[in-house]
Amino acid sequence: MEKRNIAFSPPDISELEIEEVIQTLKSGWITTGPRVKELEKKIADYCHTSKAVCLNSATAAEELNFRICGIGEGDEVIVPAYTYTATAAAAIHCGAKVVFVDSKKNSTEMDYDKVAEAITEKTKAIVAVDIAGIIADYDKLYEVVESKKDLFVPGGNTDLGRRIQSALGRVLVFADGAHSFGASRNGKMAGEIADFTDFSFHAVKNFTTAEGGATTWRDIPGIDNEEMYHQYQLYSLHGQSKDALAKTKVGAWEYDIVGPWYKCNMTDIMAAIGLKQFERYPEMLKKRKEIIKKYDEMCDGLGVYHLQHYTDYGISSGHLYLTRVPGINDEIRREIIIKLAERGVNTNVHYKPLPMMTAYKQMGWDIKDFPNAYDYYSNLITLPLHTNLSDEDVDYVIKNFDEVVREYI
Ligand SMILES: *Cc1c(COP(=O)(O)O)cnc(C)c1O
Repeated sequence: MEKRNIAFSPPDISELEIEEVIQTLKSGWITTGPRVKELEKKIADYCHTSKAVCLNSATAAEELNFRICGIGEGDEVIVPAYTYTATAAAAIHCGAKVVFVDSKKNSTEMDYDKVAEAITEKTKAIVAVDIAGIIADYDKLYEVVESKKDLFVPGGNTDLGRRIQSALGRVLVFADGAHSFGASRNGKMAGEIADFTDFSFHAVKNFTTAEGGATTWRDIPGIDNEEMYHQYQLYSLHGQSKDALAKTKVGAWEYDIVGPWYKCNMTDIMAAIGLKQFERYPEMLKKRKEIIKKYDEMCDGLGVYHLQHYTDYGISSGHLYLTRVPGINDEIRREIIIKLAERGVNTNVHYKPLPMMTAYKQMGWDIKDFPNAYDYYSNLITLPLHTNLSDEDVDYVIKNFDEVVREYI
């Protein structure tokens, strides 16, 4: 087999997206406008929610979710130690204290018993992460927060936040759905399961708008979704009480600033990419599933651990293909990654746990307290999984992974 160079996760952009971006550029409206509104509607329909809000990233979406709920200083937010920094950073940006929880043994999910133990009267939210596109066990999380209901003290640093926290009357359940757009569990879509879900449309994700993200939420008794939507608009556009589109109305020049807030809106150019990705997304998800099936066969043959993306209760978005080679340590894993790279197979590691990172170490976290997260990370190799892979590319990855890893098993 001739040597190939297999990229880890290049964006899949077709002529459809390119043409729609050109149309947008020519339309005279390039920032937040009709295409963003259309994309929001499509996302809400797809996720079976009343509303969706498009923003410039999942990180912004998660942060605004905290702000909408009035979570900030003095509050605690429970986050898995095993995730990407954005999951924790968004809570920190709001002034909340992050409390890390270790993973279940040999799992990408948190240890839900440890989550229960970590809940105090200061806990306002738990963020679960749908790692690799597999939806976490929110039924279990809802059980945990219900069981700790007596500890929950509704708070909130805004009027809307106070009303949301009082209406729910328990710790809020957040989903970091950066990987799980399009996934479902027990017939429910990512986006309609947790109280709030953020999605990422970053260039490396399944569904991209170059940079971008969105948020969805479940209806909350007594809370008006239009009010929620309006508040997201204010937070994401300077707290300016009239958005750019509305300002084009005849003679309406005046606006107010109701808070010194943020600038994290999505542009119509980004939304143009998303609208066309939507048309292609079912095919893209199908292709991911086909590649995963081949990788699963390879791993099963080798005795290498892999995630179960498709089960009788869940359909993954097939975002990442994590493998764990039995019996190897971090050092050998690094060796394998280099050998694969030399053969043109570019792999990655998702994730080095946050307590190993300088920023979180400086906050006092120590990986020794998260042995399961460390274990999971120590022999993990993420394979290239994307929709630009040809059948020959997939065969090439399989052949080389098999040859390299076989030496270590
Ligand atoms: C990519 C990613 C994010 C951040 O997404 P952005 O859109 O870049 O802000 C958050 N969480 C996880 C798990 C991710 O992989």
